[in-house]
Amino acid sequence: MTTPPPYRIAIASGKGGTGKTFVAVHLAKMISTSASCTLVDLDVEEPNDSIFFPEMELESRLVYKQIPEWNEERCTLCGLCSKTCKFHAVMQLGDSVIVFNELCHSCYACSELCPNDALPMKNQTLGTIGIAKSNQLTLVESRLKVGEEQAVPLIKKTHRNLQTEVNKTDYILYDSPPGTSCPVVAATKPADLVLLVTEPTSFGLNDLKLAVETLRKTQKPMAIIINRYGIGYEDVEQYCEIEKLPVIAKIPYSRKIAEAYALGHIVTESDPELLSQLKNVVDFIKLHRNENA
Ligand code: SF4
Ligand code: SF4
Repeated sequence: MTTPPPYRIAIASGKGGTGKTFVAVHLAKMISTSASCTLVDLDVEEPNDSIFFPEMELESRLVYKQIPEWNEERCTLCGLCSKTCKFHAVMQLGDSVIVFNELCHSCYACSELCPNDALPMKNQTLGTIGIAKSNQLTLVESRLKVGEEQAVPLIKKTHRNLQTEVNKTDYILYDSPPGTSCPVVAATKPADLVLLVTEPTSFGLNDLKLAVETLRKTQKPMAIIINRYGIGYEDVEQYCEIEKLPVIAKIPYSRKIAEAYALGHIVTESDPELLSQLKNVVDFIKLHRNENA
């Protein structure tokens, strides 16, 4: 019998601070009690899932991107590289060629088209990928180097690495970067299902709308989790009803949960209401998996 491929769920939100990480770590903890589960922290600028698992020690390795390096001796100052780069990452200024590493998308065009081999591609550190395992839970952390601005190449490299390293896991959860731009699209790309975490406020609704608009273009199935439920704003539910987006959990607003989150503690064991809402999410995931098997 062949092993089915992992079922992939992205946890995303239109903005930071909605409780996306809280949901991701608690789901990973819950799912891993009965199945193998890999939690991948793709919030690469500020990964913090590992705070919730202090007992798991990450083994990290460096990840590189390729950047052209100017060889002054070979260069004839023909100007072709400046004209070639559509990202304006390489410029000829006087009798020098300057490469702006932060702008470079490692497309190789300038390097391959240079008639004098004066722009060979060289490794430059992009960030790290760390892995830790404990029983049925695997934690993967993708962390961008301080000062590095491009999240997407690291996210893509992390996805590629996972194809070989955790392809036998039952579930993969991607804790995606917040927002609605390229990093979230890259993070959610392999997902079979996207869970959008929002909060019942006008800001929450506005950012949810933007996130739904972006993800609809990728044609991913989506479901909604309302965090801090019960603070009196019902427009989020009305919007979900109109847009036919299933609301699969309403996590109540609770000071105890907020405090535990701030301290990086897992709280399902001590909070029956939270436990029951997260069970709804796990049931929905399993149902969705079976329906799409
Ligand atoms: S294309 Fe090559 S030779 Fe021409 S300016 Fe750029 S680095 Fe120099
Ligand atoms: S590798 Fe591509 S993006 Fe980078 S400097 Fe060269 S042409 Fe520009």
